[in-house]
Amino acid sequence: MPGRSKKTAGSNGEVVQYTTLKVRLCPTPAQAELFEKTFGCCRYIWNQMLSDQQRFYEETGVHFIPTPAKYKPGTPFLKEVDNQALTQEYNKLAQAFRVFFKNPESFRHPKFKRKKDDRDSFTACSHEFESGPTIYTTRDGIRMTKAGIVKAKFSRRPQAWWKLKRITVSRTKTGKYYCSILYECPVKQPEAVVPTAETTIGLKYSMGHFYVADNGAMADPPRWLKRSQEKLEKLQQKLARMEPGSRNYEDGVQKYRLLHEHIANQRRDFLHKESSRIANDWDAVCVRADDLETVSDRSGFGQFRELLRYKLERQGKPLILVERYTPTSRTCSACGALQEKVLYKNRTWVCPECGTRHQREVNAARNIKSEGLARHCA
Ligand SMILES: [Zn+2]
Repeated sequence: MPGRSKKTAGSNGEVVQYTTLKVRLCPTPAQAELFEKTFGCCRYIWNQMLSDQQRFYEETGVHFIPTPAKYKPGTPFLKEVDNQALTQEYNKLAQAFRVFFKNPESFRHPKFKRKKDDRDSFTACSHEFESGPTIYTTRDGIRMTKAGIVKAKFSRRPQAWWKLKRITVSRTKTGKYYCSILYECPVKQPEAVVPTAETTIGLKYSMGHFYVADNGAMADPPRWLKRSQEKLEKLQQKLARMEPGSRNYEDGVQKYRLLHEHIANQRRDFLHKESSRIANDWDAVCVRADDLETVSDRSGFGQFRELLRYKLERQGKPLILVERYTPTSRTCSACGALQEKVLYKNRTWVCPECGTRHQREVNAARNIKSEGLARHCA
């Protein structure tokens, strides 16, 4: 599955984008055992470094994280796993502290990892040697440093000119192994598309329809998504009545996890398809910059907006954000008159100034579009 890509500064019209491929791994029992060991070592080294950092900070007031090398002499099992994975834990911890120190109100202090709560994963970077890179893909597998070639199912192939940067191997609660492969892919900077009113679409987030567009189009989330969600809720209620620890309960929990995973996949699929369709059909998309961290991501609209952004961007098209407090629902898109209030329970309303009957959400989408275009062209 294609992942999100980010641009970084480049020269001579070339930009570097990053793309992630997520593939299912089919490790041999020995490889799976090595993965488990590596997950355990990563958690162990993270907790060791964090506890030493804390002790040192309490004693001296100085922030300092020892490197993994310090722990190796006393803990031989650390030598059995990919050293790269341990180094990455150090980098992740250092980064977690950097963002925490910079903005302690928004970021939490790094915390200890527990097998129960934290996702099992490890990350390793590929290094280029004269003999070739340390990590690379084969026709039906991924070559890793310690594990050798691990069988993998690719739903999409990497392009020949992409450069593999790093991999993250993880295990889901249902016991499936996945690998996210991060690629650096140089691309020619696309020419900036100049949007017009005809080629621009305005989208309003809608509880019922996912979104409503200024031309009246809607993206009703597929019915199966709703049905799966109802099933999930029923299963949850059933679990609540069972005795924890019993055989039935454990079976129920496993069922619940599988269904949860299935819904997440369905939803991702829906968001990818819908965002691709819009990004290909239109030259610019206007949306409101609502704070979706909180509303999301039950709705998935925040994720949808990010997908739209990068799918537009790589075609040189803009995602135009309209300020979140713009009164897009209360403004008449025909005459511009501003209403005191528009009742959210009403699907339609009539503008007292010009007499136009509006569908509430379509009217808001129209305002989002005209406000976005006005700002973008200003
Ligand atoms: Zn009006």
